[in-house]
Amino acid sequence: MSIESGRAAIELRGVSKRFGSVQVLNRVDLDVHRGKAVVLIGPSGSGKTTLLRCMNFLEEFEEGEIRIDGEPLGYSDDGTRRRRPEREIARQRAALGMVFQSFNLFPHMTVLANVTVGPVRIKGLPRSEAEAVARELLDRVGLGHKLDAYPGQLSGGQQQRVAIARALAMKPKAMLFDEVTSALDPELVGEVLAVMRQLAESGMTMVIVTHEMAFARDAADQVVFMSGGSIVEAGPPDQLFHAPQTERLQAFLRHFR
Ligand code: ADP
Repeated sequence: MSIESGRAAIELRGVSKRFGSVQVLNRVDLDVHRGKAVVLIGPSGSGKTTLLRCMNFLEEFEEGEIRIDGEPLGYSDDGTRRRRPEREIARQRAALGMVFQSFNLFPHMTVLANVTVGPVRIKGLPRSEAEAVARELLDRVGLGHKLDAYPGQLSGGQQQRVAIARALAMKPKAMLFDEVTSALDPELVGEVLAVMRQLAESGMTMVIVTHEMAFARDAADQVVFMSGGSIVEAGPPDQLFHAPQTERLQAFLRHFR
């Protein structure tokens, strides 16, 4: 019997989105369960990044509903689909940590300051407490020796690991990763994936858009294949990679052989 009970941490129901006349997401349903790592794969332009950005309300969506721990995201719950006040959206957004392809660190702040600024300014944590948390997280991502460095003095892989620590410092309910290794030199990809793998093993709820199929195969609890704005197949990695059911997924996987 499954011990999973209650609702999923992130629930998507019938989420549709257009950019102008282009239908980018088409009635997407997805449950991201607590403690699970869900990896989104699919061809370029299939809607993976847009779907991830909807989960943080960085993109609005015209139809459907997203719930974070049961609470409707972005729009009011009263059937009018009114946009929530910005304060509420900011609160909802802060519940999810997001890491982007471009690391977006503050260039004029040290590594330690980058990781403490959110908890101090947004959560009102005392600086000493925020620094203790930051040191621990930076240790965890292997950068305990770079506290006083500036982003410009770090490699891309190191900067991305700081970005992960910075997101974790806000104690998010879940982490969203948008192609976080795509801009890195190949030799730096592994160190970032290792941190993400460790995070998945520690039980963090994660949604990850990536082209790293080996990572998807061994770190995901669930793999979701998107094509043309829809989820075409979803399931455990073994099933998706070894017994793809649709011609579209079979064709997509052939590119990685
Ligand atoms: P993926 O992450 O799978 O590569 P995206 O979600 O980035 O796909 O893009 C899905 C589709 O939406 C593409 O056709 C893309 O050109 C389009 N798109 C993405 N962002 C925008 C935008 N801000 N304005 C207009 N079209 C966009």
